[in-house]
Amino acid sequence: MADISKYKICTLASHSALQILKGAKDEGFETIAICQKGREGIYESYNVADKIITLDKFEDYFKIEEELVKDNAIIIPHGSFVSYLGHEKIESIKAMHYGNKKIIEWESDREKERKWLLDAKLNLPKIYKDPEEIDGPVIIKFHGAQGGKGYFIANNPQEYHERINESGNNDEHAIQEYIVGVPLYTHYFYSRLTDELEIMSFDKRYESNADSIGRISAKDQLDTNIRTSYTITGNIPLVVRESLLPILHEMGRNVIESSKKFVDGGLFGPFCLEAIIDPNLQFFVFEISARIVAGTNPFINGSPYTWLKYDVPMSTGRRIALDIKQAIQEDKLDMVLG
Ligand code: AMP
Repeated sequence: MADISKYKICTLASHSALQILKGAKDEGFETIAICQKGREGIYESYNVADKIITLDKFEDYFKIEEELVKDNAIIIPHGSFVSYLGHEKIESIKAMHYGNKKIIEWESDREKERKWLLDAKLNLPKIYKDPEEIDGPVIIKFHGAQGGKGYFIANNPQEYHERINESGNNDEHAIQEYIVGVPLYTHYFYSRLTDELEIMSFDKRYESNADSIGRISAKDQLDTNIRTSYTITGNIPLVVRESLLPILHEMGRNVIESSKKFVDGGLFGPFCLEAIIDPNLQFFVFEISARIVAGTNPFINGSPYTWLKYDVPMSTGRRIALDIKQAIQEDKLDMVLG
């Protein structure tokens, strides 16, 4: 049986790194954290990294890549990794990369993402190509906006123009139907080794000021001219009605099957479908993340769902390490790299 001690698990110290590194250690791997200068303290204090490499900025990743290659490090991508490096640079990574690099282009490009999700027969919010066609509430999403920052709502063409001017932002953006319902983020894990799809956990986000606006009366909201914004600050764990689980499982499966049509090798590892559920229990999927999401962080000690299946606290980070470990032991490492 191949020996896992020849390999190290490595990630950028941000986003879900604590969970990824802790999970890797629990599965018996040595770990490396790539830290931005000044942020090392927190990673040292939790004792999750056997080695810390410090960079002035994450974009300098390529300056230390040789060292990672020598260490036989397997990089685990996450949201910050994708946003700091971008999918084009990620494709040129020489170190071993967990998951399919090519799928990142499909989650990063709104047109491609939509094509993929529609092909998977998911229900999506309507997109307005022309602002003059706005005939109900819409959410304006700027490309490259991080964590919902700068999003706003409009209800008609006039409000759209007013608020675009008010924001002073001329960047490209999507105008998407605003669905009144509850947000639900489903965290999946798909292993190519076992062809099994697991629902790991669920969260909703804690967004400022959307999650605090209800604390003041509608009159005060109007008087102070408050606009809703969606800046992410944290994640809140959830469980769903059990009767929703079969449909959520089927949605995940469809996304995997459809990914194979667009990208060689398809989607594998952790991913997340981000949806709003309306009062008729209709799902509107507005985004896919084709890697671990920060919404899994409340479950470092496992979730109610992973507890059903595993005898140990199984976070998504640990599940990744388990996948890698199994691949090494079965001599199938190339099935989890891409
Ligand atoms: P995103 O950055 O796309 O994950 O969106 C940030 C937040 O905006 C989400 O967590 C939701 O609360 C909200 N949101 C995004 N799209 C929609 C939509 N189509 N309808 C209602 N709320 C949305």
